[in-house]
Amino acid sequence: MKTYPHEDLQRRDLPLMPEIEEAVLRVLRSGRYVGGPEVAGFEEDMCRYHGTRYCIGVSNGLDALRLILRGAIEIGRLKPGDGVLVPANTYVASVLAISDSGLRPVFVDASASTLNLDTSLLETIDIEGIHAIMPVHLYGRACWDQTLADFVARHNLFVVEDNAQAIGATWNGQLTGTFGDAAAFSFYPTKNIGAAGDAGAVLCKDKDLADAVRALANYGCDRRYHNLYQGFNCRLDPLQAAVLRVKLRHIKHIIAQRNERAEAYRSHIHHPSVLLPEIPTDGTHVYHQFVVRTGNRDRFRNYLADNGVSTDIHYATPPYLQPCYSRFANIEMPVTQAIADTCVSLPISEATPLSNIIEISEIINRYKPCALQ
Ligand SMILES: *Cc1c(COP(=O)(O)O)cnc(C)c1O
Repeated sequence: MKTYPHEDLQRRDLPLMPEIEEAVLRVLRSGRYVGGPEVAGFEEDMCRYHGTRYCIGVSNGLDALRLILRGAIEIGRLKPGDGVLVPANTYVASVLAISDSGLRPVFVDASASTLNLDTSLLETIDIEGIHAIMPVHLYGRACWDQTLADFVARHNLFVVEDNAQAIGATWNGQLTGTFGDAAAFSFYPTKNIGAAGDAGAVLCKDKDLADAVRALANYGCDRRYHNLYQGFNCRLDPLQAAVLRVKLRHIKHIIAQRNERAEAYRSHIHHPSVLLPEIPTDGTHVYHQFVVRTGNRDRFRNYLADNGVSTDIHYATPPYLQPCYSRFANIEMPVTQAIADTCVSLPISEATPLSNIIEISEIINRYKPCALQ
């Protein structure tokens, strides 16, 4: 039986291998194993792509988020104990960064149409003690709109975007990662721009914040052997920077291919029990995940698995229900809970053959949602 993997990184990265191998060899032969021109070059490439002034390459996406929040505290923009609005429907790393920084996560439920933070709920929130917001551009769709922009401006909130899943997505023509004060990127191998290991980046507009983040990522040194902060070692590996520079050169193609595959799913899946993701009318989607929703999910996934199609769930247990956050276990986030109970991520990547997408769609169209049919 033919199988359809959910992820196939080997296949995905194969076309770029000659360029990646050359880039990696260049670093190995240079003797510059920490920092150096590859990291600086990657940071410049990120700034140029986003039209933003500062980029700091870091170790991974969680560290990027932590460094931004710690940096905001160090420069006096936030203080320990401040509330940070965060979508209930996100990956746990968004919330870990907040609690690790001594800040207080305040969850906002998801929108059933965007699956992102529901901006229409913002007005209902008691804003007392809340000084920041972390929009998460989940699954590759921008979490930004006029309501959010107005709310942030009215309350002078510090905005840190979790852009781990949406590099290259736009709202009103503007790239995700450029709406707020700072943005965190992850280049975990499965992300749309994936390194050959862990990697991340911070993008920001303000020099003081950029300086603080850069120092914090390097033991807190603002200059050699001078520790301004009690920092960390969260630097970007130059081998990863070299790989990422190759990938970034191909980002347009990667996004176009993912969109073509998402469109193929849309035009071929016709099933009353399978709800397709909404198409944003005011921006673009980069389809880090193609998330459909269905009742009786286990039956659906088992049926797909029986037909060779591997799927995944993002995410079955939202952060506020994880054991480490038992203090939030009594909060109610009905839309997030409904998404968690019904979401299924179908295979999608720039290298998934279009014929596979069509075959998977046809398998889905033959699905019988209950035994009696
Ligand atoms: C992947 C991811 C992170 C964490 O990035 P790492 O590089 O794995 O540390 C944070 N937030 C979201 C939404 C993610 O998808």
